[in-house]
Amino acid sequence: MKWLESGESMEYDVIVIGGGPSGLMAAIAAGEKGARVLLIDKGSKLGRKLAISGGRRCNVTNRLPIEEIIKHIPGNGKFLYSAFSIFSNEDIIKFFEGLGVALKEEDHGRMFPVSNKAQSVVDALLSQLEKLHVNVFKNCAAEEVMYDQHHVSAVLLKDGQTISAKAVVLAVGGKSVPQTGSTGDGYAWAEKAGHTITELFPTEVPITSNEPFIVNKTLQGLSLRDIKLSVLNPKGKPIITHQMDMLFTHFGISGPAVLRSSQFVVKAMKKWNLQEVTMSLDALPEKTEEGLFQEIVKLIKAEPKKSIKNTLKGLLPERYLLFLFDQSEIDPAEQGGSISHEKIRRFAKHCKQFQFRVNGTLPIEKAFVTGGGVSVKEVDPKTMASKLMPGLYFCGEILDIHGYTGGYNITAALVTGRLAGTNAALYSKNDRA
Ligand SMILES: Cc1cc2nc3c(=O)[nH]c(=O)nc-3n(C[C@H](O)[C@H](O)[C@H](O)COP(=O)(O)OP(=O)(O)OC[C@H]3O[C@@H](n4cnc5c(N)ncnc54)[C@H](O)[C@@H]3O)c2cc1C
Repeated sequence: MKWLESGESMEYDVIVIGGGPSGLMAAIAAGEKGARVLLIDKGSKLGRKLAISGGRRCNVTNRLPIEEIIKHIPGNGKFLYSAFSIFSNEDIIKFFEGLGVALKEEDHGRMFPVSNKAQSVVDALLSQLEKLHVNVFKNCAAEEVMYDQHHVSAVLLKDGQTISAKAVVLAVGGKSVPQTGSTGDGYAWAEKAGHTITELFPTEVPITSNEPFIVNKTLQGLSLRDIKLSVLNPKGKPIITHQMDMLFTHFGISGPAVLRSSQFVVKAMKKWNLQEVTMSLDALPEKTEEGLFQEIVKLIKAEPKKSIKNTLKGLLPERYLLFLFDQSEIDPAEQGGSISHEKIRRFAKHCKQFQFRVNGTLPIEKAFVTGGGVSVKEVDPKTMASKLMPGLYFCGEILDIHGYTGGYNITAALVTGRLAGTNAALYSKNDRA
């Protein structure tokens, strides 16, 4: 790779702004098409968010069928149908294997590098950039994208330099975890080209609550496995239910089921102008409420003098069991035989639908993913080209596309990056001809 000084002037076919997964893939795809490509990133390292993704193991894609992948991208997943028909999750797997990064499948179709090291994914992408002679400017922040006579013309850098290009790919990500460089710089450049930015919001983010049991840290640190967690509408009906693990924290709740539910809390608060939303936790999804009640009654009948705590030992993690006894006004030391059926029914109900109020989420900066962004209505789904400004392309999280954690966001970034880079290169060649 030729590391140019940022002051050096040159005209490029394609400038990719942002060296996250979408930008790295876009630069590679444009390089493969023979374009003269410049990739710029304001950080000292490329792929900083990629390197910390998936617990630093990088959940690089997901092997579920495309229909399922789209379902796991609740933020405009359907927009990606055309893109997947051109470059799919299976193509991502082949692409990385071609770069010498062996992948393995884990639960729920999640794909990770065999090395368990996100850095191995980043390094493979960097080697490919080098092979394709893509120029890279690091520590180089873009200040603005320049448009001339309704056409992309150049990128103005923060240091005052202007670099001309036929096409520019905006791959600067969203606003989440800004210390990785994603500070939302691209929205203004898109707006300047006439694009609509849909409202930004935190998604895949822990949820906050003022419930006394949270404030008092009663359950802090407790994780529950394979529970069902629902977000309820004001009429008490579930808007969404996710069956996964969750965790109680000092400010609220977190863990996979919570992250997936978070955008529905944000949207419900907005839609109904609520200060709080009710969530419902089913700690025993395989049992019915009536079945559980009957089971407990039977257990008590067999040993009526045994304390209820010992009778129900193992039904739930002990801390949660004691918590639900407390919520049901049951003394854990009380003999099962002397507890009223009304209280046992209340306890069974709490096991199946413990309801509590939540009052929001951590801020967008702490979210795994940014919801909202460049409206997909104004982007061609087959090429990622702006429908409003010739020569402008979008990819990755800057777009109004967001998926659940599980490899869906990186998949969306890589797929849109592939299309944006390829088509920006083709566009610049036609423009040159
Ligand atoms: C902790 C964490 C773990 C995650 N784990 C997963 C996971 O396992 N699976 C999954 O699918 N998703 C995961 N995600 C989400 C996923 O990492 C992002 O959706 C993805 O990185 C977005 O890629 P991107 O290329 O659009 O943008 P980013 O990765 O955000 O990259 C944007 C790049 O643009 C650069 N940039 C920004 N502004 C400028 C500027 N003005 N000039 C020059 N450069 C600029 C930044 O420095 C940055 O390098 C995780 C996110 C986080 C925070």
